[in-house]
Order: sequence, then C-alpha cells, then structure tokens
Amino acid sequence: MFDVAIVGYGPAGALLARLLGQQGFAVGIFEREATAFSLPRAVHFDGEVMRIFQSAGVAEEMAAVTRATTRGMHFVNAAGRTLMIREGVDGPGPQGWHNNHYFHQPDLEQVLRNAVQSCASVAVRQHAEVVAVEDRGDHAWLKLADRDGGAEFTARYVVGCDGARSLVRDAIGSSWEDLGLRQPWLVTDVIMKRDRGLPDYTIQHCDPARPATACCVTGQRRRWEMMLMAGDDPVEIVKPANVWKLLARWISPEDADLERAAVYTFQSVIAKGWRRGRLLIAGDAAHQTPPFIGQGMCAGMRDCANLAWKLERVLKGGSHDALLDTYETERQPNVHAFIELAVRVGAVIQADGAAAVERDRRFRDGSPELFGFPPSQLGPGAHEDVLPAGELFPQPRLEDGRKMDDAIGQRFAVLGDARLIAHCPPDVRDAWNAVNAAVIPDPGAEVNAWLDAHQAAAVILRPDRHVFGVAADAPELARISGRLGPLCHLAV
Ligand SMILES: Cc1cc2nc3c(=O)[nH]c(=O)nc-3n(C[C@H](O)[C@H](O)[C@H](O)COP(=O)(O)OP(=O)(O)OC[C@H]3O[C@@H](n4cnc5c(N)ncnc54)[C@H](O)[C@@H]3O)c2cc1C
Repeated sequence: MFDVAIVGYGPAGALLARLLGQQGFAVGIFEREATAFSLPRAVHFDGEVMRIFQSAGVAEEMAAVTRATTRGMHFVNAAGRTLMIREGVDGPGPQGWHNNHYFHQPDLEQVLRNAVQSCASVAVRQHAEVVAVEDRGDHAWLKLADRDGGAEFTARYVVGCDGARSLVRDAIGSSWEDLGLRQPWLVTDVIMKRDRGLPDYTIQHCDPARPATACCVTGQRRRWEMMLMAGDDPVEIVKPANVWKLLARWISPEDADLERAAVYTFQSVIAKGWRRGRLLIAGDAAHQTPPFIGQGMCAGMRDCANLAWKLERVLKGGSHDALLDTYETERQPNVHAFIELAVRVGAVIQADGAAAVERDRRFRDGSPELFGFPPSQLGPGAHEDVLPAGELFPQPRLEDGRKMDDAIGQRFAVLGDARLIAHCPPDVRDAWNAVNAAVIPDPGAEVNAWLDAHQAAAVILRPDRHVFGVAADAPELARISGRLGPLCHLAV
C-alpha cells in the first residue's frame, strides 16, 4: 500500500511527489502519457513559487533553466498608450528570490522529474491511465486501464493532480464556481533565428481589433497569444500560413521558426470540494485561471506546499485527518483572489466597442496604473484568526547570512526575542516540541524589523512559511502556542 498515490505527473503531481518523497513516504505516481508533454503552456512563475522550489531542494536547478527578471508587464492600448503596468521589483523580492521568472515548461518539468527520480521511496508509472478511484473507508483504491495492464493499487490517500478533466474530482463529486471568463485564444511559440529588437518584457496589447500577449520567454523562445475573434475558425487559424499572417505585425518566417500553434479556451473556475475522505485534488484539477497574470501553475504549486506538510503530519500520526479539511478552506480564497484579478485584467485586455472606449477614457489621464499580485493570504484554517496570521512570512537572511528557510528546514518555527523565548515555561516548550518546531532566538535585523512593524515580539511559522500567529509578550506567546494543538488537530 502506498502512503499517497498521485494521479497525474504534470507540474503539480511532480512537485507533490518530490515534497512527500523527500520525507521518505511511499508515493506512487500514475501518469497516462508515456513521456512528459513536450510543449509549453506556462511561461511564468513568481517569487513565492521559487521559494517553494527551494523547499523542494531544486532552487539552484530551477534558476539554471529560468530567466529571472526585474521588469514588469505592460498593458498597451491600440493607440500605443500604456494603461497599466504589473510592477517589477529590482533584485530579490520579499521571498528571497526575484519576483518574476520565465521558463520553458518542459525544462521546469524535467527539473522536477529529476528530483522525483532521486527519491528512493517514489515509484513512477507512466503509460498508466487511472480509470477508477474509490475511498474505501480505511484505504483508497485505484485501477489502471486494461490497455495499461488493468492493475489495482491501494493507498492511504489519493491526490488527483490530473488536470482540468480530473477523474479524481469526479469521484469526489465536486461542483464548479465559475468566475465568468470563457474565451478561446490562439497560443503560438516560436524560436527566434535573428534579433528583431523585441522587448525583454511582456506586453499585453489591449487592441480591440485583436487582443494579444507578446512574451519574452527564455533564450531565443518567444510566445504570442492572440484572442480568437468572431468569425475565426479554430481549425483554420492554427495553420502555419494563417499564424504567420497574424504574427506579421511583429515577425516574419525569416525571423523565427514556428514551434507550435494551438487554441486553448481560457476559463476561470474553482472546484467546490477539494477533499472527500481519502481523495483530494490539487492544481488544475481544483481550479483553472485565464493566464493573463501567469498564475495557474503557480496556484497548483501553492496547493502542493499547503497539502504536503498536512499529509506529512497526518501520515505520521501527529495530527487527526481533520487537518486535511483546512487545505480547501485555506487555499480556496487565495486561489479566488488570483483568478478574480486575472478576470479583471482579462476584461481590460479583451475590452471591445464601447467597453474599450470607456477603458481608454478611464486610463486617459496621468501615469499608467501600477498593480501587483494579491498578497498570499490564506483563508481560515490551521492558524490564528487575526492578521498577520495566515499571511506568507517573507524570507530574509538570518544573522549568519543563511536564507531563513534553509535554516529552518521543513518544519514549524518559533522566531523572536531571545529573552522572551528563554523564559518560556515548560508547557509552552512542550507545545513547540509537539510540532517539532525549530526555535530561533534573535533571528536577525530583518526578522526583527518585521516583528516591530507588527508590534510583535515573536512569531510562529508553519512549515509552508505562513504565519501561524504572532505574540507581543509572554502570556500571548503561551496562548498562541497552546492553540497549535487544537488548530493543527494534534489530538488524534
Ligand atoms: C496558454 C497557457 C499559458 C499559461 N501560462 C501560465 C503561466 O505563465 N504561469 C502559470 O503559472 N500558469 C500558466 N498556465 C497554466 C498552467 O499551464 C497549468 O496550470 C499547469 O500546467 C497545470 O499543471 P497540473 O499539474 O495541475 O496539470 P497538468 O499539467 O494538466 O497535468 C495533469 C497530468 O495528469 C495526467 N492525467 C490526467 N488524467 C489522468 C488519468 N486518469 N490517469 C493518469 N494520468 C492522468 C495528464 O496526462 C497530465 O500529464 C498557462 C496555461 C495555458 C493553457
């Protein structure tokens, strides 16, 4: 019996397998395809996701195949006026890494797969389509297609990382919340043969004649995404001659080789029901967003970071499995905030007719509007109720120069004033020991500045670096430490 069976070996399945495999859990991955999907979809991830890759031990490998950028994303109307800019950040941002990274998805998936392969406790089965999955009370069961051997397997939990048409989601019986955007777009990837002086940042062409996204990926790779307009035939439009006509505004066949052209229907949906008993879903199986702010895969990576430590606690017997119910309550509002922003940004890009005129009027005066990603704030769950609880804690360097997460490892942490920590009574220390917390007194100037800004003397962090709670003094530290047990369902 596996501890966890994962259906789907895309980015979400691979990351979850790595995070669990690092802890030595017996993980089985089942993937329908014989090889990794060779064509890219995602091209961008953010600093928080790089930090998650750091926790999976692959940050250096990822940095080698990605292009970190300090530049933002520009939204330009048909008259060439810049309406909005998603801000870039100079140098490493609050997560300890650059805020924006571009990549070729097959490279990213290869890094994750290499890391999975180095985990002895993880078994990968490709060409293995799962056709049935059930929660059978004291275990979960799954079955492969007859063409793939028809074998049956059991696991303590099954996680469906099986993408938009998830079989595991169907077995859970989830319904959808639809945030309203549904629109086909043409996605084209090219490899440049010569330099055309194109910008090294992404431009959203908010042009009612044909909204389009132009993106600098890595090396000679570039991506154009173009909205399908009334009358476009999705079969005809992907033919190279038609693609080149659309690209003619920027490049010609003398400038680049066309790698692929495909039509995707962008949509904005979130599943209601991410867990039923021993069955869970993550990644595109749980939510899909239009890619206007490059956050779909990022959301899946955040799911895995949230789920991995909770599965670890439950599998090791340290927490009741009610902890797994906090996965959806915490992640759903976070995903909702990102998809809502993508839909709003999509409305700016896709506006036509009177809406485009009104949009241009709104942005006519003054400088372009600046915006950023929503803060990575969790919904209610395994943390205190009051902010900054549930927020993502930044990753400063500690006094000894190490990145904070490297010093802590994959566990809870208590950071704060040395005297306060030294004088904590034994029952408070017992509460920390019960979750195997790292204790870091005097964590350095940057953490102290954060504590001061929040009128706090100590902070308790969860293994996914979200704030469990903050304390201004000894009684408050004792109180929130006492809440670790109930909120993390330690009574099994
Ligand atoms: C044009 C476009 C641009 C995008 N740009 C970005 C971006 O810049 N940044 C970003 O963060 N996101 C972006 N995204 C979204 C991103 O590509 C997806 O969110 C991400 O790839 C989903 O990963 P996943 O692992 O959840 O699912 P998938 O990658 O879909 O993987 C699911 C896997 O499950 C397998 N599978 C399915 N059913 C079964 C079964 N029954 N048995 C066995 N195996 C099964 C499939 O074969 C597949 O390998 C973009 C998407 C598109 C379409």
